[in-house]
Amino acid sequence: MLSSSSLRCRAPSLLPNPNPNPNPNPNPNPSILLLRPQGRRCRCRCRCRRFAPPVLAMDAAQPFDFESRASDLLERQSKLKIAIVGFGNFGQFLARTFARQGHTLLAHSRSDHSAAAASVGAAFFRDPHDLCECHPDVVLLATSILSAERVLRSLPLQRLRRSTLFVDVLSVKEFPKNLFLQLLPPHFDILCTHPMFGPESAKDGWAGLPFVYDKVRLADADDSLVRCANFLDIFSREGCRMVEMSCGEHDESAAEIQFLTHTVGRVLAKLDLKSTPINTKGYEMLLKLVENTCSDSFDLYNGLFMYNKNSTELLERLDVAFDSQKKELFGRLHDRLRKQLFESSQNLTGSSHPESLSFSKMLSSSSLRCRAPSLLPNPNPNPNPNPNPNPSILLLRPQGRRCRCRCRCRRFAPPVLAMDAAQPFDFESRASDLLERQSKLKIAIVGFGNFGQFLARTFARQGHTLLAHSRSDHSAAAASVGAAFFRDPHDLCECHPDVVLLATSILSADRVLRSLPLQRLRRSTLFVDVLSVKEFPKNLFLQLLQEN
Ligand code: NAP
Repeated sequence: MLSSSSLRCRAPSLLPNPNPNPNPNPNPNPSILLLRPQGRRCRCRCRCRRFAPPVLAMDAAQPFDFESRASDLLERQSKLKIAIVGFGNFGQFLARTFARQGHTLLAHSRSDHSAAAASVGAAFFRDPHDLCECHPDVVLLATSILSAERVLRSLPLQRLRRSTLFVDVLSVKEFPKNLFLQLLPPHFDILCTHPMFGPESAKDGWAGLPFVYDKVRLADADDSLVRCANFLDIFSREGCRMVEMSCGEHDESAAEIQFLTHTVGRVLAKLDLKSTPINTKGYEMLLKLVENTCSDSFDLYNGLFMYNKNSTELLERLDVAFDSQKKELFGRLHDRLRKQLFESSQNLTGSSHPESLSFSKMLSSSSLRCRAPSLLPNPNPNPNPNPNPNPSILLLRPQGRRCRCRCRCRRFAPPVLAMDAAQPFDFESRASDLLERQSKLKIAIVGFGNFGQFLARTFARQGHTLLAHSRSDHSAAAASVGAAFFRDPHDLCECHPDVVLLATSILSADRVLRSLPLQRLRRSTLFVDVLSVKEFPKNLFLQLLQEN
């Protein structure tokens, strides 16, 4: 027994498959292999269209071919006759790869999937008796979890060879393991598996994707071991990450990995989320999650819940976590802030200073600053510019002298160009140079935390002058991007930034804005916020900032 099958057992991992044949004529018995006449039908008289290979008259005369013929033989011996029971979405998905690897395929299902079967070269059987009489090496159960028991009970097991290997691919594992152990006679081998991917998530191949398996019961015979190894090899050949783990362990982890994912996807689907022009990457991932999880049947999802005891506990944990998250949020939305939020927006609606008026004034005084960066391309961004927003001063200051505002922002006036008047032809390039420098801003970032620092890196790279102020001491982070850090907001405002960028937390925005000595700023200062909500800072600005 060892001699006839030990080679098969090791063959797949030892020998690469240089030219997988989509329509192989495998024969696991090497002694018969060389005796049958060419093209004659397999003796099992099944409909699986398996032909015996030809007699090669030259075999004996070609002793030097031995190695390549032996490897060819081993390759053919690794091919299995696989009966897929449950030929739905996932069964067909697996079949495509099995067929490509050259295995002989039989299929059986409740519905008529004969066309889909034919498309991958599988023989389709309406009657499970016909299927079992074909003596598959492997019976692969790929029905829904919910129907698995009924389908298994409907199979005429007595018609199968006694050494058949039963495999399942159900997404829960304790349940089919117990079902197999309970319903299958002891001479059948049992392998419980879960390819942790599907037609959607593995449409570009199976490489690197996890394949979980548990050798629940294998006879201590070479045939059994070889068959099982050959089946597992289908997945390792595709590059799957093979993970041997017990069915119990699988179900514990799968509740979180799989049931949680599907639940979140299906809950989000109920929100009917739409793609918007301001999608973030995170949001795109949520949309993808909805698409992936909802493309599986509800039966599958229901099976994950009903047949994995860990799922119930997980659903409860999810409920508790959601409640606690809500409590945390609502707890922080204390009365004062809530009152402020809603009252301020009401006041503004009836205000004598319509938003449109304030905004247009603000826009008019700062329109150049707002538009300059987008109108003017920046052909050669200067990491150490000496910007000055006032063109009249720009041409009068001596080179390298400190900015007259005596601030700590280390802003220097640009050089006086003595040749200006004498070089009329330079006008265009100098004008564009001037505009480029005018597009540089002195930006005061108020709230120099995570996001403020993140923005600062790009502002600095684009050559803007940066000032920073924050509750905590971020002077080191500020220095690393060339920004001047101010503990005292009075010092910051006295530097007369062109832009005050509010990057505090949403919750502290009101307090921080009120703490700024606005009277020290130039009247035409532009206030910008980057808060992740928008109505609130708009109302806050309109309420607290003077019109100019
Ligand atoms: P599914 O809805 O879980 O199962 C569909 C299959 O179950 C079809 O073959 C269907 O047969 C059969 N079936 C359903 N109800 C039946 C009944 N009352 N009687 C007889 N057969 C019945 O969807 P699936 O995606 O194809 O999944 C098949 C199995 O693979 C499931 O156990 C699933 O957990 C597992 N799995 C799926 C994925 C995946 O990504 N989809 C990944 C890993 C594992 P007919 O089509 O003939 O009606």
